[in-house]
Amino acid sequence: MDNKITNIELNFSNICTARCYCCSNHRGKKNIPLMADDIFKKVLEQLKEIQFDRIHTSGCGEGLVNINYPFYLRDLRKEFPKAIIDYYSNFSLMIPSVSNYIIKKKLLNEMHISIDGVERWVFEKATGLEYDTVFKNIDYFLKNNDCIEVFINYRNPRKYYERCRDILNREPLFKRYVGDDVNNLKNEYNEIQARFNSVSKMKITYSNTAFSLWGERDDCEPDFEKKHPCPKLNVIKNTIWIDPDGSVRMCPYQEEQGGRLVYGT
Ligand code: SF4
Repeated sequence: MDNKITNIELNFSNICTARCYCCSNHRGKKNIPLMADDIFKKVLEQLKEIQFDRIHTSGCGEGLVNINYPFYLRDLRKEFPKAIIDYYSNFSLMIPSVSNYIIKKKLLNEMHISIDGVERWVFEKATGLEYDTVFKNIDYFLKNNDCIEVFINYRNPRKYYERCRDILNREPLFKRYVGDDVNNLKNEYNEIQARFNSVSKMKITYSNTAFSLWGERDDCEPDFEKKHPCPKLNVIKNTIWIDPDGSVRMCPYQEEQGGRLVYGT
């Protein structure tokens, strides 16, 4: 029997430094905030007993809120030299010394960065993060990185608003752009590519984020009649989630609002 799990999502932190308009309010709230050292060591031992291809070191928050994150990464790299290890970061805490450590030791195969815009007002309203800090950290990483594949995902806030209006017939729950803001949001895909290509040593792969409307679940009617199959079946079929307390889940949504589905996603 093939008992291989393709992806392991190892969640070191349920706390985030950002407050993004598209993120779920309930994310990670039913588990503990950070993975402790003794749990990580036990998970590491258990991972040696199964086959997998990839470890996502992201999950329900910003991994670097857990001060052990770089050392957990070091141990994963040492134990699983052939696995693809990736990280989704908002870069608020990716200071130069952390970038240097990760790059020099080649601890990651892939770095994924989500960006809502290169215009200051767009970015700051989208995330609540400080523009100069994040962009300085990203630039430092891109200028010095010579071994980690970089993916930049453009989260177009205007598309998010349009999707909420089309599918849910309402505005997003977290109204970060008000009044004329939404009309003033332009597609920054080309500007984003030009901005980061100009500083990066490595070639960057760009994509547009397909929004699942995860953050809108709090205000959606439950699908009592089960008319809609889970929109994430294709994702969860190959992935398990490990929470900071070491518990394992087959579905990242099952603890949120009774597994409400967003129609049409
Ligand atoms: S989308 Fe990511 S960076 Fe933004 S609040 Fe959620 S976990 Fe944090």
